[in-house]
Amino acid sequence: MNELPTSTQIVIIGGGVMGASTAYHLAQRGCTDVVLLEKQPFFGLGATGKCAGGIRYQFSTAINIQLSQLSLPMLDRFEDELGQAIDLRRCGYLFLLTNEADVAAFQQNVALQHSLGVSTQWLTGDEVRRMVPQLAAGDVLAGTFHAKDGLADPNGVVAGYINSARRLGVTTVTDSEVVGIETEGGRVKAVMVGDRRLPCEVIVNAAGPWSAVVSQMAGIPLPVQPIRRQMLTTTPLPAIPVSFPFVIDFAQSLYFHREGQGLLTGMSNPQQPPGFDESVDEAWEVVHLEAAIARLPLLAQAGRAAHWAGLYEVTPDAHPIIGPVSQLEGYVVVTGFSGHGFMHGPIAGLLTAEIVLDGRASTLDISVLAAGRFQANQLHKEYNVV
Ligand SMILES: Cc1cc2nc3c(=O)[nH]c(=O)nc-3n(C[C@H](O)[C@H](O)[C@H](O)COP(=O)(O)OP(=O)(O)OC[C@H]3O[C@@H](n4cnc5c(N)ncnc54)[C@H](O)[C@@H]3O)c2cc1C
Repeated sequence: MNELPTSTQIVIIGGGVMGASTAYHLAQRGCTDVVLLEKQPFFGLGATGKCAGGIRYQFSTAINIQLSQLSLPMLDRFEDELGQAIDLRRCGYLFLLTNEADVAAFQQNVALQHSLGVSTQWLTGDEVRRMVPQLAAGDVLAGTFHAKDGLADPNGVVAGYINSARRLGVTTVTDSEVVGIETEGGRVKAVMVGDRRLPCEVIVNAAGPWSAVVSQMAGIPLPVQPIRRQMLTTTPLPAIPVSFPFVIDFAQSLYFHREGQGLLTGMSNPQQPPGFDESVDEAWEVVHLEAAIARLPLLAQAGRAAHWAGLYEVTPDAHPIIGPVSQLEGYVVVTGFSGHGFMHGPIAGLLTAEIVLDGRASTLDISVLAAGRFQANQLHKEYNVV
């Protein structure tokens, strides 16, 4: 990794998918007076490294669908463009719907997806049962399936962006925690990295679940809360075919996808309070496993290979915040992806680079994602959150 320079034009705080993608897209535009700071000894150890790797078009709001329509093709092109394999698998996402309220909401979601050109299939309960006979799905009323949803490798994506940004001239530094932000006359002036001061003109807050803590260093409150989410992988399960989709039992926030020769499964605890604890909640794991085995009985034959917990970075409307902040010039945030930031990382970094270099995003109108929406109370919540 590089040494910390004595000054720079742009500081990016956080070396997860957002910071890495922003660094790469700045460099691709020829802007390389950039320092990417990561507090951990390696990049991508935060939420990005803990994530399930899911990528999907199936959302309930136009802006999230549009972000996917721009971001997922960037993952298609990733290996050719950046020379880094990311294990892209188009296995499809299958949502299982088990109550009438979700059926009605998903009918609206699918109509919106169709209107934007996303060809999600509507399935009857019987069609779901035929598609994945391994499931105990007697209670499933309907389902939705989109074949172009799937999986990619988060570590590959971060490594690809970091290595390419470095090759283009960006300075990337690990073991470097930002502990303070200096401002003067309503402008950013410098960051403190331990006891070292790094003068800069622009700060990009890409600190994920820690972004509100970082923002507070500049006196700017951000409504982003860290919420623990955990999952586990199993030993090999030969009865799971290679074509097994990413299955989401929506009402239970329970999901499965093929991982190696076995499965990865997770279930979101709706009672999980905000906080930075990343230890596995063993009691919740028991609840999760009972629900998982009830839905996919052959799981009872598998052992646990690994388990871990990470943090979602959650906003009140489950949409990200991308853009400048009116109280402080030179300060840009890209955070709050509420459980689906990995898949939106490629486009979010490109949009953030546009905001830094041009003052506004031009690839997509993202005014609905502005930080000011919370004060204005103009919230439209994403429904498809897992
Ligand atoms: C269990 C789990 C499953 C998920 N599954 C999916 C999924 O299937 N699909 C999907 O799209 N998304 C998923 N997500 C969400 C996704 O992982 C996140 O939205 C995304 O990774 C956020 O990226 P980020 O770069 O903003 O945050 P991070 O990856 O957390 O990066 C922020 C970085 O900032 C660093 N940092 C923090 N404070 C400082 C500081 N003061 N100084 C320097 N560095 C600092 C941190 O160490 C960290 O590396 C999942 C998340 C979890 C936890």
